[in-house]
Amino acid sequence: MKRRIPSLVAALAALPVAVLPVAAPASAAHAAPDRPVQAAPARPAAAAPEERPVIAVLVGFTDKRFADPAAERAKARDAFFGSGSSVATYFKTVSGGRVTFPSARGRVVGPWNLDMPASCDHKRMASLVEARMKAQGLDPARYRHVSILFPAGGCGWAGLATVNGRTSWMPKGYSTAGLIHEIGHNLGLGHEATRACPTGKLTGCADAGYRGKTSVMGGGGPHVGLSAPALVRLGWHTAAERVVPTRTGTHEITPLYGAGRRFLDIAIPGSADRLVVEYRRRGQAPDVDVAQGVIAYLVPGGKYEKALQIDPTPETTEKGSTALPWGGAFRDRGITVKVLGWDAKGARVWVKLPTS
Ligand SMILES: [Zn+2]
Repeated sequence: MKRRIPSLVAALAALPVAVLPVAAPASAAHAAPDRPVQAAPARPAAAAPEERPVIAVLVGFTDKRFADPAAERAKARDAFFGSGSSVATYFKTVSGGRVTFPSARGRVVGPWNLDMPASCDHKRMASLVEARMKAQGLDPARYRHVSILFPAGGCGWAGLATVNGRTSWMPKGYSTAGLIHEIGHNLGLGHEATRACPTGKLTGCADAGYRGKTSVMGGGGPHVGLSAPALVRLGWHTAAERVVPTRTGTHEITPLYGAGRRFLDIAIPGSADRLVVEYRRRGQAPDVDVAQGVIAYLVPGGKYEKALQIDPTPETTEKGSTALPWGGAFRDRGITVKVLGWDAKGARVWVKLPTS
């Protein structure tokens, strides 16, 4: 199946104000509210996991129902809690065990028949589902995620979710990849787009859609982890794993989902912008299907959830063509980042800072 998540999947501004679904074409900016979101503090992996209870509600319309409700419930249980590709396994792996979606505290209910004809009116679905939950004594606040699964399609989106919220909407035929992506929005992540930049610099860059595909939030699918900026946004790293260079020198970093010094987070003097550099290695979960190489991101204003992947080789446009080549370098506002090489254990990156 083709993976076209960002071009199909819309996101909403955070509830309760101005809920505006966005068609999210490949070139569109994300609809996340433009308010500053601080990176979460680094969290040690050994801390007690944060449990995120889910309620998945199958609904029916006055004129449209699921043909096989039992199969839909089983699909939902698998998509959220299954031992294969699921929300639970994905986020447990990418968070290093910091969050869990425990099946014992989650539930799949329904179908609940809503008093509305089949449509894509997500707001109406949400208000009817919330009323029904309350009527049944189910406190919506007890759940970190409320996912509404409905038996209609043709909405122009393969899933919808509130950013930094708890609600998601999945139409008929939704995929596990799409569900993981929407839960990523609930967690506060936006879409991760790529900018193609002229070789060696970060000025004069152009929109390159979702070419990088190094994140489930950037069209990478469920067999690719989150990027380093997303991990910073969520606090899913330790302080030692996030290397903040303070002087010019060579840094060795492990693959992003390895153990050790996992990525570089470089402050750009005179602005709140940052450069994040990671090394992605294909093979091990969650990066089973990632395109291998050293990847750089520009983090505008220090808003990690809005990181832009840099494609320093605009002449190549296929998936996985965004890595910095061996010996490749770029310069931005007095900072130079150069890839010295890599092997199975890690990558060597030279960072020149303007102040040293
Ligand atoms: Zn999305």
